[in-house]
Amino acid sequence: MSTVLIKKARYIIVSLPFNIIENGAVFIQDNLIREVGPSSILEQKYPQADTIIDASDKIVMPGLVDAHTHVGECHMFTLFGFLTSPLTGIADALDRIVWPAWAWIPQEAAYDLEMLGFLNLLKTGTTSVQDCYMWPDEAGRAAVDSGLRVENSPTLVTSLRLRDSKGPEDDLARTEAAIQKWHGAANGRITYRIHPSATYNCHEWFLRECVELAHRYDVGIATHLAESVDETKAARAVWSQGEVRRAYDLGLMGPKSLFFHSCELNDEEIALYAETGSSVAHCPLTNSMLGNVARVPKLLAEKVNVGLGTDMPTNDLFNVIRTVSQQHTIMPRPERGLPPWAPLEMATVGGARALNLQDSVGTLDPGKKADIITLDLAHNTRLFPLTLPVLVTMITVNASGSDVADVIVDGNLLMRDHQLVYLDEQAIIERAQRWSNEFLNYYQRKVERGEALVENVHPEFQP
Ligand SMILES: [Zn+2]
Repeated sequence: MSTVLIKKARYIIVSLPFNIIENGAVFIQDNLIREVGPSSILEQKYPQADTIIDASDKIVMPGLVDAHTHVGECHMFTLFGFLTSPLTGIADALDRIVWPAWAWIPQEAAYDLEMLGFLNLLKTGTTSVQDCYMWPDEAGRAAVDSGLRVENSPTLVTSLRLRDSKGPEDDLARTEAAIQKWHGAANGRITYRIHPSATYNCHEWFLRECVELAHRYDVGIATHLAESVDETKAARAVWSQGEVRRAYDLGLMGPKSLFFHSCELNDEEIALYAETGSSVAHCPLTNSMLGNVARVPKLLAEKVNVGLGTDMPTNDLFNVIRTVSQQHTIMPRPERGLPPWAPLEMATVGGARALNLQDSVGTLDPGKKADIITLDLAHNTRLFPLTLPVLVTMITVNASGSDVADVIVDGNLLMRDHQLVYLDEQAIIERAQRWSNEFLNYYQRKVERGEALVENVHPEFQP
């Protein structure tokens, strides 16, 4: 049995919006939060804790939950340097950026690229993450080694074949084997979700198989849905009921369903999310690159759960929180603006619900898993001057991932005073850099030779 006492915390955000303690303490036993309260009382009660963290110059808060990203795709961003014209929409982004990068990932690179993404998430305060990736075995191993709470979601697609795939049946079989091997691993830190990439890039029979597989193992399901205007228009041309109603008809929606983006929803479609208890992962950074903004105020008004996603493994969920606080005020829509605590609440409780982890993480209530971060206030001119009434707004508008000083996941101290306890940062960065260079060379060769950037496209999906 191991114990940790975080004492003298300047502020502890136990749960949003209003349960905040000044000069508080948190007592952790093994992987659980046992007690939260005034520091003077907990210091007297637990003077012999194995590890004692003095947080007198820190804010203690729940670890952030990234409800959607692709952890192992840092190499993809090298391609943005090749863009000579703006991306025109999701199809263009997939053709020029996403598929070439994803379809390249060789097995030997998969673990190393994942570790770079996990390293960044850890250092910037994300303790739980939903990860859409490939090479399920390497992804499982990296998730365990990262120390984070990870929902692995192998990318399943039938419109083309990714590097790890021998075909759709093989994809389903490997996903099932990965669930059997990794679901619940590392003291329950690792979980699974079935992830057909998008409803327009998978055959209908395959989507039905995905639903069946999710039910068989009682795991969640997730897909990119209604991400952009052009995609939604194209979908309606094929399926007159629209892609959301079609997802509903196919059994994809429900309380364990998570839909990324969900920007282009009409009122009836939002009602389907609410009716089924489906969650949204709102990813404003990548959405705005393609000119789309989800109707988050409307979604929240209709009681749809919304979590936040970076959708980019080398970004930072505090950037997303800040963007969310601004984006929905400037949108010229009938429903505008958010309460000041809403972005941070979405990045914690909303994300926890989206990952069906609301009983375990998202707040610092006793009995929950000890997934905790601290923000450093020493020499911090951005989070200044800090008073209780402005605390949440200050974090929302001014905090950055580099403020994160300590990270605890499942009771394990992974970073202390900005120093990583287990991970070798330099080695992880060097390996990821080497693979990114290799990818860049591969891509440049293809461009020079005029070769197709995307290979193994299914005949029915050829342009
Ligand atoms: Zn995505």
